[in-house]
Amino acid sequence: MFNYPPTPASPLLLIDLDHTLVERDGDPDAWAPAFCAAHDLPPEAALVVRTLFQADRSPTGLGRIGARFRLPHSGATLWEEHVTHEAGRTHLIPGVPEALAALRAAGWTIAVVTNGRADIQRAKLARTGLLPAVDAVCVSEEAGVRKPDPAIFHLAAARLGRTLAPTDWMVGNNPATDLCGAHATGIRSIWITPTPPPSLPPSHPTPTHTAPDTPTAATLLLSLPR
Ligand SMILES: [Mg+2]
Repeated sequence: MFNYPPTPASPLLLIDLDHTLVERDGDPDAWAPAFCAAHDLPPEAALVVRTLFQADRSPTGLGRIGARFRLPHSGATLWEEHVTHEAGRTHLIPGVPEALAALRAAGWTIAVVTNGRADIQRAKLARTGLLPAVDAVCVSEEAGVRKPDPAIFHLAAARLGRTLAPTDWMVGNNPATDLCGAHATGIRSIWITPTPPPSLPPSHPTPTHTAPDTPTAATLLLSLPR
């Protein structure tokens, strides 16, 4: 019987979604007027629609809006419409597919870790063609925990049959969720931020690196010795 040395784990990258892999077109405040127009409601109803939705961004919340204005649609139907709307105004940040492909070709394993509604975040990934470009997706709603809680980072790794190591990485644009979460989890981080980066509050950890965009971050990761 031979004792083979253990196979080294592939490098693991956890990566944020919004403003890191994708951006959204248009003004989010345009949703309520568009909702009113689509359902033959007067324009002045938009304020009520917006206020009710801000209080409950869910199928239940949209069901309340539907009941308030006597729309002939269930909350589930209106929510489906909303998911389609949100996915429809999502586009890839240039160079992201190529960056993810280069990382995977170099042996990296990639998991998206994102805060939000599971159906919306997954619809964005599907619309932009990113689902097959990553190995796992972990959305806070289905995880039951949000960044910066380390539990969501550990859960993302567990979905890949992995445990996090200090040599693993988190890439994201939000210091409060992505950087604080990576620091609390004990992994390294790249902060996606304009150059020069704005100063962070003293309570925030210093990222391992900064990069102006995800393709630059990927080039940096590929250049680092492991
Ligand atoms: Mg983000």
